[in-house]
Amino acid sequence: MKRLIAAAAALLLLLPGCAEKRGTHTETRYDYFDTVVTVTAADMTDTEFRTAADAVWDELGRLHRLFDRYHEYAGMNNLKTVNDKAGTEPAEVDPALLDLCDFAVRMYGETDGRLNVMLGSVLDLWHEARERALADPASASLPDDAALSEAAAHTDIAALRIDREAGTLYIADKDASLDLGAVAKGYAAEKAAERLTGLGYDHVLLDLGGNIRAVGDKAGVPWTLGIRAPEGDCAALREVSSGTLVTSGSYQRYFTVDGQNYHHIIDPRTNYPAVGFVSVTVEAADSTLADALSTALFCMTEAEGRAVAERLGVTAFWLYPDGTLVHN
Ligand code: ADP
Ligand code: MG
Repeated sequence: MKRLIAAAAALLLLLPGCAEKRGTHTETRYDYFDTVVTVTAADMTDTEFRTAADAVWDELGRLHRLFDRYHEYAGMNNLKTVNDKAGTEPAEVDPALLDLCDFAVRMYGETDGRLNVMLGSVLDLWHEARERALADPASASLPDDAALSEAAAHTDIAALRIDREAGTLYIADKDASLDLGAVAKGYAAEKAAERLTGLGYDHVLLDLGGNIRAVGDKAGVPWTLGIRAPEGDCAALREVSSGTLVTSGSYQRYFTVDGQNYHHIIDPRTNYPAVGFVSVTVEAADSTLADALSTALFCMTEAEGRAVAERLGVTAFWLYPDGTLVHN
């Protein structure tokens, strides 16, 4: 019987003019940006979804390699190349890297330096401490204070030289380095969305580990998205038809020393994890902007963040440790 049904189904597929079934699809990969990425699409055939998802993976793969701080790839200059050449010489890079650095420098100005992509030297110390702690929790320790102060002396945004004409990036301080972790996923989501739109696809939802970008609605209805509470339930629901929702949370990546958690969003004023919120979520049209702001607002008071959010025309949601959620 099963065989008969399979044969009939195969025949149906072969019949000329027989429309492929449309429906909802989802695919998840853990290959890029050190996070789980899910592509969901509504009202698509299998063939359309394959093309759409492959375009997304292709674009994310390309940008992942470009923004990778830790690995080199044959035949390309990436973020690691730029960092390795700090204090020595400029590196010719893909225009996407110039675009994102340009944007990040602008956001440094907009956020009073709370978003600083030149924080690499300080972030490295926290990264090492986290890796050590996760490998051996019993010997977990904080970065050394003197090392943090020394590293912080090499985080000047002015040391980042973007030469549009030459197509190069140069870091004019050999002990400084770029880290695009605060903006890379938002930018990648935006670029993947552009690829989909260019191919004529909509009704797609991209989720890059909490950076959510809607490319059109869910075939006539909005997508219902949750702002996550740390226990795994929802602090609020949002109906989104296009645009983006990006969350920076203290529960995403952390390690523990003496019962205290230390997360991965560092306040450039203290060189320590920013305190005050469980998470900050930004809803906006543009995912790169939302990603930059979710990180920056996490390093500000709510009042300071409100001023920035209102000036730039985005909605922000602040989740406090007592479970209170407020927005502008
Ligand atoms: P996530 O990547 O977990 O979604 P964010 O978008 O907030 O969260 O980015 C956090 C990452 O940004 C960190 O892992 C680190 O690489 C980098 N970062 C941390 N603090 C800052 C800061 N104040 N300015 C710029 N980049 C930062
Ligand atoms: Mg961010």
